[in-house]
Amino acid sequence: MDDILLMLPGPTTVAPRVLKATSDNIVNHRSAIFGEIFTETTELMSEIFKTKNQSYLITGSGTSAMEAAIANILNPNDKILNVVGGKFGQRFMHIANEMGADTQELTVEWGDAVSPEQIKEALDKDENIKAVTVVHNETSTGVSAPIEEIAKVMKNYDALFIVDAVSSLGGDRVEVDKFGIDICVTGSQKCLAAPPGMAAITLSEDAWKVIDKVDSKTYYLDMKKYKKAGSGTPPETPYTPSVSLIYALAEALKIIKEEGLENRIARHEQAAKATRNAIKALNLELFPKEEVSSTTVTAVKMPKGITDSDFRGTMRNKYKVELAGGQDHLKGNIFRIGHMGNISYKQLAITFSAMEMTLKGLGFNIDMGASLAAVNEAYL
Ligand SMILES: *Cc1c(COP(=O)(O)O)cnc(C)c1O
Repeated sequence: MDDILLMLPGPTTVAPRVLKATSDNIVNHRSAIFGEIFTETTELMSEIFKTKNQSYLITGSGTSAMEAAIANILNPNDKILNVVGGKFGQRFMHIANEMGADTQELTVEWGDAVSPEQIKEALDKDENIKAVTVVHNETSTGVSAPIEEIAKVMKNYDALFIVDAVSSLGGDRVEVDKFGIDICVTGSQKCLAAPPGMAAITLSEDAWKVIDKVDSKTYYLDMKKYKKAGSGTPPETPYTPSVSLIYALAEALKIIKEEGLENRIARHEQAAKATRNAIKALNLELFPKEEVSSTTVTAVKMPKGITDSDFRGTMRNKYKVELAGGQDHLKGNIFRIGHMGNISYKQLAITFSAMEMTLKGLGFNIDMGASLAAVNEAYL
């Protein structure tokens, strides 16, 4: 198991230090000892979100924080604008539907990004929109949305700005306070390089003003309860959290701090560039428009004449490199290379070496070494 290289847009391989942290024994989650670890973790989380506001930890995957974002701000039939250009944008809309919202879909072609003008237009058309959801990094299509520019538009409207930064926080630029994001959510198993199972959410004062006036649509994810428990002595969560996963998350966040967030983002940018150039060197085609392509995951059109199982199966079984496939209608039509978390030169060199051998073995006329040269070029 250990020898499979995960090149996925989550879950990502974690550092030995992070794994080791999970082996510490369990402490009482309502004790001062845990309170200290908990405070340290939420403070590190806020630093990485770049916000002065409190962050809250949820035991659950990233989707739990998406659900918390929606369930705490809506009254029945409230209008919410959902930008949908992929699987995760769609998920936000489905959650909002489930919660009884009157959802307005802003459809974006899969592979393209929403523009700030499109958001402005939608908000000008309907002054009753209470919130806008945007997925920063649409993992299913490998597209990055211009959240900083969208945030500038959002400043002129009362609607809350909700951002899914699950596959971007810790790998791409997300500055919650500076941009003016009201609710930002993330998950542990992507760029943060912690084990799966924890999510985090941060909420602005404007968001709290709305939350305080709404009966939450959820028991477990009621953020008022998280706020109350989190501001107690010792600070805690309303229900038993995954103590071990919080140990691991704390360690992963410390590693981010040691690396430096700016350095870490630059490392992700470098990996993204190396990956795109290597793909082009193999004459393969990127799925998204290059100018909106993601910093943390690269989506590539499946080369004509081979199946997903031939390609990714050979990569995994013969060369021990695990890539992600496409989702929904993109299944079989694209593959995705995650370069988030701890990925750097070493992993990309192995990945492209394996990809060249795989394609050659499947009968493609491959210029052996071409993609490696492109990777090397990016790291010289
Ligand atoms: C992974 C991911 C999520 C959450 O997925 P979970 O499986 O619930 O952790 C949400 N949004 C995006 C953009 C993601 O990449």
